Amino acid sequence: MQKAYDTFLLSEVSAGLAAKAVSFEPYRYECAHCGEEVRLAAVDSTSMVPHFRHRSGNSDVECEYYLGQYGSFSTDAHSRKSKNERAEFYFDSNTKMFYLGLRFSEDEISAYEQLSTIFELRVASQVQPFYTLRINGKNFSVDTQRLIPLNKFSYSYFLSNTLNGVKRKYKVFNNVSHYAATFFKMHVGDSGYRAKLVRSFVLYTNIPYFIAFQSQSQDWSLVDTRLPSEIKVENTFEFTTMGRKFLGKVLTITAKTAQIDSLLSSWGYQLEAAETLTLLWPPAILSEDISLINADAAYLYSTFELQPHGNINVHSEDITKIADRLTKVAVNPRIKVYKKNSELILETCEQESDEFIDIPVARIVERNYRVPDNASFMFNRSGVLPLSKGVTVQMTLDSVVRHYLNGYLDGIVAPSEQITMSGESLLRDALMHYKRTETLNWDDFKSLDLSQTAFQYIETCEKTGLINSAAKYFIEEGRI
Ligand SMILES: [Zn+2]
Repeated sequence: MQKAYDTFLLSEVSAGLAAKAVSFEPYRYECAHCGEEVRLAAVDSTSMVPHFRHRSGNSDVECEYYLGQYGSFSTDAHSRKSKNERAEFYFDSNTKMFYLGLRFSEDEISAYEQLSTIFELRVASQVQPFYTLRINGKNFSVDTQRLIPLNKFSYSYFLSNTLNGVKRKYKVFNNVSHYAATFFKMHVGDSGYRAKLVRSFVLYTNIPYFIAFQSQSQDWSLVDTRLPSEIKVENTFEFTTMGRKFLGKVLTITAKTAQIDSLLSSWGYQLEAAETLTLLWPPAILSEDISLINADAAYLYSTFELQPHGNINVHSEDITKIADRLTKVAVNPRIKVYKKNSELILETCEQESDEFIDIPVARIVERNYRVPDNASFMFNRSGVLPLSKGVTVQMTLDSVVRHYLNGYLDGIVAPSEQITMSGESLLRDALMHYKRTETLNWDDFKSLDLSQTAFQYIETCEKTGLINSAAKYFIEEGRI
């Protein structure tokens, strides 16, 4: 089959482009017709093009027939045929515990709810579940992760539901060798971090990881002596969860060396250079792992080419390449980019309510302003100066005081003359009360439409080569 549903990208993808992604995480690709798990075949073949095959070995003929040889690709997340859970495993730095994160779509929740389906979690396929939860709208929000604490230790966990009984095995803790590390990718939040289990065997340079060691003997000295200096450790701590002792480290692998390759390979990992993916515009609000934006297009910087149906879930007409590494993408309504270590989910959101921004601004006219609290700032041509409570400031012509409440402007104080005067009277006042001058430069006024008064004044300044700073300010403001 030439296409499959990618549960990471939430879109259909082509086998050719999927083959270019390096790692093949279990349960990532599903048949776009029957929903069964598929795997990529003939990835390195010279005689066959890459294609998807049912992992179970079931015949591909029927599904191939329905999907067609060169069918179009659906970017709709709802085109998913499988109703299997979407699962990820996490470590949380605040609770120092491991979690299973479960997510279901709207269709999945309602289908399971109608059939009174229960989700089950086991430490081995033939034992009783240690955790069960009814899949319904009360326990799960649409496409939102629910975190289930892991309170029983196992190297692998088995996920299933009472509807189909298929137990899907997820390897969580690394046991390929004694003192093998398990890698989690960092997602930095406001307080602490949540790290997601790396389900493939590929790690990347220069991105932070949380790694966990688990041992009964607790002799952690063996771990530290083995770490080469190119692995920069930011933080090390011990913790106990599920009745076991763990050693946690936050680290970055800064270089690919033979020593590091050999260490990682003994743990079952391989190292590659990381890709970069950044949202340049518009500004986004981060909600869990989703960047919320209020725009119908986004500008992305990426060290790799964005490929529709390959590493981004949009059609080719929604992508415009602006320059090398710079791409404009139409956002409607949810976009996901996934390649190697880079992951970005963009979603459009409603404009923020104006209620918070619409704070009334009091305008006060004063010659001498007595500062009532520590939330006032003087703005003048020298810059901005915070004002202390109780001080009285004499307002000069080119100055203004702004008062803030919780970071929002709620008051402006200006000297009395500024408000009423303009033109020649303002120029006279400026020259009389304000003595500071600066070097005259005609270029400063090049873009301005000068009044007769302003032009004549600047001409008189040519003699000395100096201009009154306050007068210049008012000319620039268009008030002289
Ligand atoms: Zn199929």
